[in-house]
Amino acid sequence: MATIDDRRTVFLDNVSQIAAEVAAANADDVDAAARFPVETFEALREAEALSALVPSHLGGGGVELADVAAGCFTLGRSCGASGLVFAMHQIQVACLVRHANGSDWFEDYLRSLVREQRLIASVTSEIGTGGDTGRSIAAVTPAADGECTFVKQAPTVSYGAHADDFLTTLRRAPDADGGEQVAVLAARAQIELEPAGTWDPFGMRGTCSPGFTVRARFDAKQVLPQPFSTVSAQTMVPVSHLLWAHVWLGVATDAFDRARAFVRAAAKKTPGQPIPAAVRLSHLMTELSLLRGEVESALQEFLVADATPNRERLETMAAALRFNNLKIAASEQAPRVCQGAMNVCGIVGFKNDTPFSIGRQLRDAMSGALMIANERIHQTNASLLLVAKET
Ligand SMILES: Cc1cc2nc3c(=O)[nH]c(=O)nc-3n(C[C@H](O)[C@H](O)[C@H](O)COP(=O)(O)OP(=O)(O)OC[C@H]3O[C@@H](n4cnc5c(N)ncnc54)[C@H](O)[C@@H]3O)c2cc1C
Repeated sequence: MATIDDRRTVFLDNVSQIAAEVAAANADDVDAAARFPVETFEALREAEALSALVPSHLGGGGVELADVAAGCFTLGRSCGASGLVFAMHQIQVACLVRHANGSDWFEDYLRSLVREQRLIASVTSEIGTGGDTGRSIAAVTPAADGECTFVKQAPTVSYGAHADDFLTTLRRAPDADGGEQVAVLAARAQIELEPAGTWDPFGMRGTCSPGFTVRARFDAKQVLPQPFSTVSAQTMVPVSHLLWAHVWLGVATDAFDRARAFVRAAAKKTPGQPIPAAVRLSHLMTELSLLRGEVESALQEFLVADATPNRERLETMAAALRFNNLKIAASEQAPRVCQGAMNVCGIVGFKNDTPFSIGRQLRDAMSGALMIANERIHQTNASLLLVAKET
């Protein structure tokens, strides 16, 4: 029987190979055509990487969150969009695994996720809430036949046209307050997606994230048992910020790698001559180290907080501030590194068709600050800082 170390090694080796051989090879085309990275996800399904976080007693990979974070970094380093889709899927899986509370329906679902390598999309943002995922307008609405329904105006549903299932935040009932939320998992067959907009964005083009009006009919058992406030504090927010940040670190590392390759190529061409860009590369390494340090320390702090009884430390204001800071810092630092890499490479970095092109990486990295606007997170932090005892 495979040990946890064997499973982790297999997972990481598979993801590394897929990143190098499939995701990197298709990254420019995925970006140019704004198309879903189908080849990468076929390969990830084949390697059973979509169920990596499902516990082994349910048939899944049973790897640790740290392994999945490493996988997000590796994929992001080859193709930002592939890394982000992988991260978003794993965030949904983490919410189900950690908050199913022993529900038979959700355990059966996780077994089917393992068997069928189902891809889960996220429907958290909503038109009218201004990017506040802690509030919903759409509600779980009882239907006459005992089932439930909802209609949600979603501004951005990444890989909506490619997903098998959808995790959607909603008010618990039609008469509930905006903050009284639950998360509902519905299968594609239970969902109707009415397109509401196009997808021709600046970066992360392969995530294929247009808006939809989402209509669903589902059984009450498909409501995740724990309230979304708990799911959000213990998992959705910190795990999103951790996995997104690993993707952005991967994108920035790719940009740094290209700048280093440029400097090495220049040194080869003019042996013994000083290379002015080499000093800029050294400055850039410092910027990349700051990003890596922030991302790695946040992961360690999450793991420590996650191990406290009932994950109680993840429910504190200090934890909310910590993982909000990670999101802001990483989403601001990653484009800075990419821009620095472009300054090292000069015009060949600016052009889209050289081995040292940085355009895709810079554009992809710039999406981070908008994925829940940083200004909004600062506003939340500002309120928390007024009352939090410790930070
Ligand atoms: C590549 C990508 C993929 C995504 N995929 C998904 C997905 O699959 N599912 C999903 O649910 N979401 C997804 N999102 C997130 C989603 O698109 C946005 O975060 C969300 O829609 C909020 O954007 P908004 O422009 O409506 O509002 P905001 O970005 O919140 O607001 C627009 C502007 O107004 C300012 N603003 C508004 N209100 C406030 C306030 N109260 N305080 C401070 N500033 C404020 C903001 O700073 C910002 O400049 C994705 C985002 C990106 C970039």
